[in-house]
Amino acid sequence: MKNPIPCIILLFCHAMILHAQENAEPKTPNIIVILADDVGWGDAGCYGATKVKTPNIDRLAREGQRFANSHASAACCTPTRYSMITGQYSWRREGSGLNKGVANGDSPLLIPTNMVNAPSLLKQAGYQNAIIGKWHLGFGLTRPNYNQELRPGPLEIGFHEFFGFPATNDRIPTVLVRDHKVLNLDPSDPLFYTYNEEEAKKQGMTPYAAGRNRIGWSKGGKSAWWKDTEIADTFTRECLQFIERNKEKNFFLLFTPHDVHAPVIPGPRFEGTSGLSKRADMLQELDASIGEILTTLDRLNLAKDTLIIYSSDNGAYVSAESGHKPNGPFRGVKSQLWEGGHRVPFIVRWPARIQSGVSEDLVSTIDIPATICAAAQVAVPKDALPDSFNLLPSLLGEKTAPKRENLILMSGTGSLTIRTPQYKYLPNLALADGWKAAGKKDPNAPAKPALYDLTKDPGETKNLYATETATGKRLASELAKAKTNSSTRPQ
Ligand code: CA
Repeated sequence: MKNPIPCIILLFCHAMILHAQENAEPKTPNIIVILADDVGWGDAGCYGATKVKTPNIDRLAREGQRFANSHASAACCTPTRYSMITGQYSWRREGSGLNKGVANGDSPLLIPTNMVNAPSLLKQAGYQNAIIGKWHLGFGLTRPNYNQELRPGPLEIGFHEFFGFPATNDRIPTVLVRDHKVLNLDPSDPLFYTYNEEEAKKQGMTPYAAGRNRIGWSKGGKSAWWKDTEIADTFTRECLQFIERNKEKNFFLLFTPHDVHAPVIPGPRFEGTSGLSKRADMLQELDASIGEILTTLDRLNLAKDTLIIYSSDNGAYVSAESGHKPNGPFRGVKSQLWEGGHRVPFIVRWPARIQSGVSEDLVSTIDIPATICAAAQVAVPKDALPDSFNLLPSLLGEKTAPKRENLILMSGTGSLTIRTPQYKYLPNLALADGWKAAGKKDPNAPAKPALYDLTKDPGETKNLYATETATGKRLASELAKAKTNSSTRPQ
């Protein structure tokens, strides 16, 4: 060898490159959050169901971490969805409508456009963001006019694309929206609506829309009506197209299926397949949609570097169906402060980084924003996502990862409970039944506090407040402290 120096330099450079690769930040993942509608904790095989078949949700659990003690932050749709995007407890927004049940199709946008949230942070970090499915967080600054541009909406709070419906599948208006506009609306047949019966009568509006009676009244806009039997396939197709279009970029897809919210109308391929109920058929439809997403990720070779979170916005509204228990062994249903109201499935899969297993940690849908921002290596400003806990260190198996000491949950009527890994404290037992309790409560009756030990009594049958008063009072003070402070996220 005449001159060994260039070879040595080359070898040195090669070693430097290898070293740099080893020390490089791990690859930031694509992110897919699937937030199902009214799906209970017990609604999948991996959570103990035997009568409904959910092979794709079970696959996610097998290949990811499945959480056993997981909760929607509220026991109904709109507040959970708000918190899942903003990382803020919905009840902090007193007077906005977010602390009392679900929004109608006449709601203005419930997320302030200047509020830092998960999609806006991911957008700044270069992610391409879409929400496909149910929105249910309002449009515009006042009552939306569906004949005009629906602005501000999802695109003004951080999403690049929106395709879905405004409120719920049992509510007016029964139309699909792409970005700012109602899809297929004929300007010669404009859409008018109201939630006021008297006004409906005056205007000649009817609750009948898209083939059945709904909540609210409307007239016109017929060319834009959706077909209930096609909603799942339409949303799934839009999700697959979004993934395919963005396969070369980092993307964040928030997929919010209408399955299994009422009215329970499965697509024709799924009707009768469960042998149980139309609701169970819809669950199998949901599972098939998830299956199509998983197959697409496999085909595009994206599965390994895609973080998927699967959960639900509240518990099931029925507790038993021909031997199937949608809320598992838990008491209560949607809207209630019993476990069945807010305990939901929660599965996280990220093959490149997260080991598979089952976790008993107390977690919530409100933790999704801080967790996905951490996975994307996005710094969260101090005041943003104020109640969202970053689950990533724990998901990565870090032994010293901080865990939630408590979680606050809201009923469908805006009343609160505080939950620790062991206990649940209810300031007033009379409010535990959510919508069912509304109107029945005696306003002059003194509040009756309740305390349940969920490790010994998961069915919440024994009120321990009289014998374990000190624990109850400690939790009452933790709840008061969380309400007084504007944030509960560890800094
Ligand atoms: Ca729901």
